[in-house]
Amino acid sequence: MKRLAVLGHPVAHSRSPAMQNAALEALGLADEWSYEAIDVAPEEFEAKVREMAAADFVGANVTIPHKEPALWVADGSLRSPAAVAIGAANTLSFTENGIAAENTDAGGLIDALPGRVRGRRALVLGAGGAARAVIWVLEAEGAVVDVWNRTGRRAEKVAAGLGGAAVEAPRLSSYGLIVNTTAVGLHGEDPFEHLPLSEGGFNSEHVVVDMVYGEHPTKLIEAAKAAGAHTIDGIEILVRQGARSLEIWTLRKPPLDIMRHAARG
Ligand code: NAP
Repeated sequence: MKRLAVLGHPVAHSRSPAMQNAALEALGLADEWSYEAIDVAPEEFEAKVREMAAADFVGANVTIPHKEPALWVADGSLRSPAAVAIGAANTLSFTENGIAAENTDAGGLIDALPGRVRGRRALVLGAGGAARAVIWVLEAEGAVVDVWNRTGRRAEKVAAGLGGAAVEAPRLSSYGLIVNTTAVGLHGEDPFEHLPLSEGGFNSEHVVVDMVYGEHPTKLIEAAKAAGAHTIDGIEILVRQGARSLEIWTLRKPPLDIMRHAARG
């Protein structure tokens, strides 16, 4: 058996096993490959990864809180430039040459966006781990990036390291792309209370991405959709990063629609 897994803490809520097993089934690989969720505490992360690499695992996705350690557990020469620049990895591959690390959150965002990114003005809300991947890839693809964060100093620090400019009071009409990478909305928080957004501020020219996902569409996605904006929710981002990971491990073209259906439950 070729085994795959998602490592997190907690991880029981993860939709990756359903999504990836459905994809393996659709590709006709389910007899040989399987994907499971493994809860691993931070202090046990490195030993667990090394144990998996020595056993019959081919690779692993890595989620909160292990994305930074995942970069460092990989062999120096097998860390992708994206993962190194972002400072975190979400995909490990156990190869003949050692443990390789990639960050598919970054490329997954680009795959989900309609049209060209180059020259587009983008507002990134947040300065945490998800924001780092988003800011790095938008800069790399030629967007003009502004970063807003509740804790302004953090936005300045992230922008100084990855590119873009920290802003305190962004005007929505200045941007073609708005990406929420904060945790606002995860527990039903009102984005129009916590973020520099107004409910009537969206229009049909906007592309709005909300990395947050849960049982229901977020209030941010609903308001943007109502204004005619092109919306991309957190599940689509999850699918796109997962598709890139699956392709790295299996070298097969991922069945996106099957993955979407499974991820949406
Ligand atoms: P993180 O590193 O902990 O960063 C959290 C961010 O949210 C910080 O910028 C923080 O601002 C901000 N924040 C939290 N509560 C806030 C509030 N009440 N008002 C304003 N800002 C607030 O977390 P992360 O790893 O970046 O993840 C962020 C979100 O993205 C999570 O919901 C996660 O599930 C989601 N995500 C989704 C995917 C996907 O595939 N769809 C992938 C990665 C992450 P401060 O700096 O001021 O604290």
